[in-house]
Amino acid sequence: MDKVIKRALISVFHKEGLQEILKTLNDASVEFVSTGGTMEYIKSQGYPCTSVESITSSPEMLDGRVKTLHPKVFGGILAIRENEKHQEDVRKQALPLIDLVIVDLYPFEETVANGGTPEEIIEKIDIGGISLIRAAAKNYKDVLICASRNQYSSLIGLLKAKNCATSEAERRTFAKEAFAVSSAYDTAIFNYFDEDSHSHLRIAADEQKTLRYGENPHQRGIFFGDLNQVFDKIQGKELSYNNLQDIEAGVNLIDEFTAPTFAILKHGNACGIASRGTILEAYIKALEGDPISAFGGVMISNRPIDEETAKEIDKLFLEVIVAPDYDTEALKHLTRKQNRIILTRKNKDKQHWQYKSVLNGVLMQEYDNATETKADMQCVTQSTPSEDEIDDMIFANKVVKHSKSNAITLVKDSQLIASGVGQTSRVDSLKQAIEKAQGFGFDLKGASMGSDAFFPFPDCVELAAKAGITAIVQPGGSIKDQLSIDKANELGVSMCLTGVRHFKH
Ligand code: 5GP
Repeated sequence: MDKVIKRALISVFHKEGLQEILKTLNDASVEFVSTGGTMEYIKSQGYPCTSVESITSSPEMLDGRVKTLHPKVFGGILAIRENEKHQEDVRKQALPLIDLVIVDLYPFEETVANGGTPEEIIEKIDIGGISLIRAAAKNYKDVLICASRNQYSSLIGLLKAKNCATSEAERRTFAKEAFAVSSAYDTAIFNYFDEDSHSHLRIAADEQKTLRYGENPHQRGIFFGDLNQVFDKIQGKELSYNNLQDIEAGVNLIDEFTAPTFAILKHGNACGIASRGTILEAYIKALEGDPISAFGGVMISNRPIDEETAKEIDKLFLEVIVAPDYDTEALKHLTRKQNRIILTRKNKDKQHWQYKSVLNGVLMQEYDNATETKADMQCVTQSTPSEDEIDDMIFANKVVKHSKSNAITLVKDSQLIASGVGQTSRVDSLKQAIEKAQGFGFDLKGASMGSDAFFPFPDCVELAAKAGITAIVQPGGSIKDQLSIDKANELGVSMCLTGVRHFKH
């Protein structure tokens, strides 16, 4: 059954925006109870108002640190109307029953953002207001809570609908919102106190988007964050959970390269990537790496897409394309299929931390920002790599860093010709890569190979040499490194150690 509001406690920081609420409540003969500044405002609008002080017989004190914190106020909010024992207390203590609480908290976050002094910031930690919110939300069966000025418009709608009467379900919805407000408020305070502040975590509270589903249709999925800061979406369907993961993998990969480079990703791994003089050539070579896997992939380029490239891309079914820009003519081709997601990359700002939930907690680590250059390629074999092989080893090492472990990449002439990813043994990854490369007709003679971690045995070197691979880059660090180096010397293969492992799970 609907409950009618008879008394409202109003204590708000920002007074503006209250007029219509006050009028609606006053028209329904609701009594106002209020704190200092808010009471003055209510009276200035021409409405009668009871002061909290007159109810508590206790003055506001400690510069406003204590205003509403009093058993009479909280008793009046928390008393269960249908509980006889509570009602006995109400009578004995003459508790004024409060049916509606409207609060707008001290602006803590704004004070921090505006560079307030530590004293100013601490004073903006609302104590009474947050307690009012929690008390009223807890007793939502009897009390309606409006916990922020952001909810004024929904409150007006609710009050007007039934002449200030509300249902339990409606009050529960407002209570839910109230706890969202109180938890976000305390999170902001925590972030301020947490000096090694992971301020990016605040994003999680600010922006949230329900995805169509999670990794599979029977799993729910949500994205926390604001994609508009990263991309402009030109067209296409909603980004899916899996699209977002592939895009993340794609941007991290492509940012390793400075020459015109095109990459095609599937399930977080590059199935094709190549650097060339033009983006068209790079695309053709990326696709050539594995034209079967490329179907339905995520494509990413580090150069604007021109018409010729767009024409080629248009021949393929793809989910997402990401580029710094698109020529007008290029867009005519790319936008022909409306579901195709076309994104322009707005900024390349990197997040510092990466998160993953495990068991009942969250793992957090810094992104793998180590990128090895020529200076990191320490040759440990009698045979030294040629300049071309060094370039390919650097390329292979960049791609292997962004491939799921255990990973092996095979590269020739700045083109990924195959990779073996996500295997439980490195030998299996290599076998997979060799088989794949040969299956697509590549000649592995003179190819370079990257490995995300060291070789525990010389078997990978042996397999690689047999397939025609002439240069290998790996981090080293196994107690059996020497066995692999000896094998490379025996078979005339060059090997460089970087000292940096790149696991990615
Ligand atoms: P007013 O301008 O009406 O004097 O104060 C309104 C503000 O005081 C609101 O932002 C409300 O959240 C906050 N408030 C209400 N009661 C208390 C209290 O007991 N202690 C503190 N620190 N803030 C309160």
